[in-house]
Amino acid sequence: MKYLFGPVNSRRLGMSLGVDLVPYKTCPLNCVYCECGETTRLTAAVAEYVPTDDVIAELDGYLSGSPRLDAVTFSGSGEPTLHSGIGRIIDFLKNKYPRYPVAVLTNGVMLWNPGVRKSIARADIVIPSLDAVSPDVFARINRPAGDITPERVIEGLVAFREEYRGAIYLEIFIVPGLNDTESELIKLKEACRRIKPDRIQINSLDRPGAEEWVQPADQVRLLRIKEFFAPFGAEIIGGPARKKFADRHVSDLAKAVIELLRRRPSTVDDLVAATGAGRAALESTLASMMESGMITAERLERGEFYRMA
Ligand code: SF4
Repeated sequence: MKYLFGPVNSRRLGMSLGVDLVPYKTCPLNCVYCECGETTRLTAAVAEYVPTDDVIAELDGYLSGSPRLDAVTFSGSGEPTLHSGIGRIIDFLKNKYPRYPVAVLTNGVMLWNPGVRKSIARADIVIPSLDAVSPDVFARINRPAGDITPERVIEGLVAFREEYRGAIYLEIFIVPGLNDTESELIKLKEACRRIKPDRIQINSLDRPGAEEWVQPADQVRLLRIKEFFAPFGAEIIGGPARKKFADRHVSDLAKAVIELLRRRPSTVDDLVAATGAGRAALESTLASMMESGMITAERLERGEFYRMA
């Protein structure tokens, strides 16, 4: 699969088939916590980064087998709303495979653009992020392209909320020492009052980020922040669910592992959940990939994370 990945066992969406619409790390932001690593193409240009017809053909081929999925999710290793064909792809999914909920994970930066807002309007769930309101904190966490300001992002989110009938889960990624100060949290709460999301999802580092100095927020702090945002239905995003397994036969395990690690560092447990393969088979695949220098490992609180070298 060239444009599809997984299904991955998503923390928020269950068993989710990923759709990656832009080349590796094409994004208008370069977030310090990004699990895909440094942004290599920092841009806010909307374009057909990969052929829309090819993505539709790949989705059609996959979904025609009626796989068990909880969602088809636009995400991956860059910003999906930069792709000019995302609206046509969502229309295809909603018309031909309406039983699969469609989710869009976005940084929300492009929502100032009415055309981009319209293109994702048929998605069932949109999960945008907003990590900071103060320009200096926004610049330090999200490191945006060009003239992107937090106020413009908020205005885009407010306009989207007014037009969009689906669910908006607003994600706030906590970077301790930067956006967890009282003054920044108060500003974020005020922004949430304007945006009116259906839910707020408090996130924190779960796997290695782009910058080594970024640390996870501790649970006590996260619980306090969750309480602070309680009027908006806040929740802390937990670890991945462990019970569901991908409904597919993984014929080439190494290939499936590469496909997943190219998009996000993962533990053995993550890979077991995403591929449905046995732990022993995965451990031996990872060991030979380590030996050949193809991947590296890093220990974090949740365990040993493997990533492409
Ligand atoms: S976290 Fe998302 S928005 Fe931030 S750099 Fe990574 S892909 Fe882009």
